[in-house]
Amino acid sequence: MNKIFTLSPRLANQIAAGEVVERPASVIKELVENSLDAGATQLDVEVEQGGVKLIRVRDNGHGISKEDLPLALSRHATSKIINLDDLEAVVTLGFRGEALASISSVARLRLTSNTGEEESGWCVEAEGRDMEARLAPAGHPQGTSVEVRDLFFNTPARRKFLRTERTEYGRVEDVLKRLALSRFAQGFSLKNNGRVVHSWRPATTQPEQERRVAQICGPAFMENAVHVDIDRAGLRLWGWVALPTFSRSQADLQHFYVNGRAIRDKLVSHAIRQAYQDVLYHGRHPAFVLYLELDPGNVDVNVHPTKHEVRFRDSRLVHDFLFRSLHKALADVRPGNEPSAQE
Ligand code: ADP
Ligand code: MG
Repeated sequence: MNKIFTLSPRLANQIAAGEVVERPASVIKELVENSLDAGATQLDVEVEQGGVKLIRVRDNGHGISKEDLPLALSRHATSKIINLDDLEAVVTLGFRGEALASISSVARLRLTSNTGEEESGWCVEAEGRDMEARLAPAGHPQGTSVEVRDLFFNTPARRKFLRTERTEYGRVEDVLKRLALSRFAQGFSLKNNGRVVHSWRPATTQPEQERRVAQICGPAFMENAVHVDIDRAGLRLWGWVALPTFSRSQADLQHFYVNGRAIRDKLVSHAIRQAYQDVLYHGRHPAFVLYLELDPGNVDVNVHPTKHEVRFRDSRLVHDFLFRSLHKALADVRPGNEPSAQE
């Protein structure tokens, strides 16, 4: 019989990191979500060498107080929920209190923040090796910057799974595009190896939003898309769906958000596929950017650590609502109701 030991905090964090920190793109998702939860209106992301050497996310959100800075790096420490009731109606993107602890266990992390109440800011550093964070004064305007260097420097087995700089950068870009589509009111920018690659300004009006969608999904998508906005029985579906003529050979232009969170869900995909069934040739995939909004109490987001999956309280109702709304939207634009030509 082997003796039972309690895992050291560092090892426990490294194991937990396996669930959420797969590659630079997943670090960026967690950091940007934190910035959004902090009410930031401008988020600037910077990477070097595909994010393996450096990831920096800077925001102008509410910041973290000096006392809370070391806590932010410890596991199960969150400012977002206190009890189970909060979890059942969670509106923030984060709530597990694991991301920063996980990231700092597999990289060199520096967190600098200013709540705007003090003149300058404070920073903590954690370097994988120990969980003791060092606190020091640091100049920073209101908001937070997180710098993550040398991802997986202390976990070589994980590092081996990283692809080329180019591939990792591609994933970073995809993740940020997905996040930028989730919040139009925020401005985002992305810098790669010192060069600004994307800059999306805050978009409040529909034409401004359509401009951002066109920038991210390509102008052809927007030219071939119809705007939908349907509100019924506590469910709202809005966004853009491409006409069947703009179908794709791959399911690569599909963005679906539930209460501002990007998700992949079988029930949702099924409802959308059904709505397109009569109008899309076999083997073709629809393109869409869609937002479903519903009472947070009617959807469980705590199904998986990455929160890509959700569970609806009344899945039948959601399925029917999606199917009917999209079926109607597609039928409305083609009065003849015969399948249109495919390329
Ligand atoms: P979670 O997001 O699940 O709460 P994290 O480990 O991602 O867990 O973050 C821990 C805590 O650190 C958050 O609850 C929040 O209080 C604080 N925090 C992290 N990033 C930011 C940020 N950019 N701005 C303000 N507070 C932040
Ligand atoms: Mg978080």
